[in-house]
Amino acid sequence: KTLRVALMGLGSYANRVADAMKDSKRAKVVGVISGTPSKIPEWQKRFDIPDKNCYNYENFDAIKDNKDIDAVYIITPNAQHHNQCLRVAAAGKHVICEKPMAINAKEGREMVEACEKAGVKLLIGYRMHFEANTLEIVKMRNAGEFGDIKFFQGLSGFKIGDPNQWRLDPKLAGGGALMDIGIYAVNGTRYMVGEEPIWVTAQETKTDASKFREGVDETITFQLGFESGVVASCLSTYNMNNLDKFFLNGSKGFAEMQPSTGYGPIRSATHKGRLDMPHTTHQTTQMDEMAKIIFDNKVPIIPVDGKEGLKDIIILDAIYEAVRTGSKVDLNLT
Ligand code: NAD
Repeated sequence: KTLRVALMGLGSYANRVADAMKDSKRAKVVGVISGTPSKIPEWQKRFDIPDKNCYNYENFDAIKDNKDIDAVYIITPNAQHHNQCLRVAAAGKHVICEKPMAINAKEGREMVEACEKAGVKLLIGYRMHFEANTLEIVKMRNAGEFGDIKFFQGLSGFKIGDPNQWRLDPKLAGGGALMDIGIYAVNGTRYMVGEEPIWVTAQETKTDASKFREGVDETITFQLGFESGVVASCLSTYNMNNLDKFFLNGSKGFAEMQPSTGYGPIRSATHKGRLDMPHTTHQTTQMDEMAKIIFDNKVPIIPVDGKEGLKDIIILDAIYEAVRTGSKVDLNLT
């Protein structure tokens, strides 16, 4: 069965997802939701979308009565995900939501609950959870090839441009680099280590207070501790380009990926040699796999459901609290 998707928010990432979905075997763009009417005719032409599958932010609740749409993929600024998710769930459609799923844990929890109540699936756009190098390393770790895991390093960043974009507006972004790109290091720590962290410490550095306003973090270093004794050391920044590296070390050996979360190809190696698994477009694979999760109840190796996304948001909240207080913050994710 093909997953028939309406994309909400026709910005740069929605364009990437839509192009990638042209090669999907199980997912198809069939509708759009946009606040910019001038964008719609071009999208209709590109994906052969009928007028009845085009909505705006005022009228999309009517998607409830549209039998030709199975799911809405929310690809709007972070702070809008919560309200949009609640409305899509109330319309009885499955929700695919971009990262970060919400700008705080309270909102994330409400999204999980709303989708459960409506009986729809909530999946987060974690494309790396379906990526071949990532999955191979997780498989090797589970097989004990690295021994007992001891240490992880996750470095995620890029140099942000235009000072007027929503990513630098705390009301729309819900934070700064940590919310946007640091979440890859947070999420990656959890799937690379294969355990949930129990505490976090964090420190912030800001070199440009006019570009990175109150509530928008430029650079945060953070550390995560685990019951088993594993420690993770991570960095999130809007002030360095080409910073995208994961490094995992156990008692027997290591795995590394650099780049580790970019659009690919992902380059990877272990103490045994290079891996460099074949590249496929992440979003194509993601959407095919999400169709299987929704229709075939397939259980992915690394989960992508709302509860999984919520764990990352709980950690983001704790990192911000650790920055504010200068104290170690305990986590309870299990
Ligand atoms: P973008 O600015 O290119 O697009 C945002 C879209 O939202 C635009 O179409 C814009 O018109 C619309 N929008 C609606 N209300 C808006 C408002 N008040 N202000 C600004 N724009 C508004 O952003 P993007 O890069 O496409 O990011 C969108 C979402 O996708 C974010 O949550 C981001 O974190 C996520 N994203 C995920 C990945 C990934 O690899 N998974 C990559 C990029 C972005």
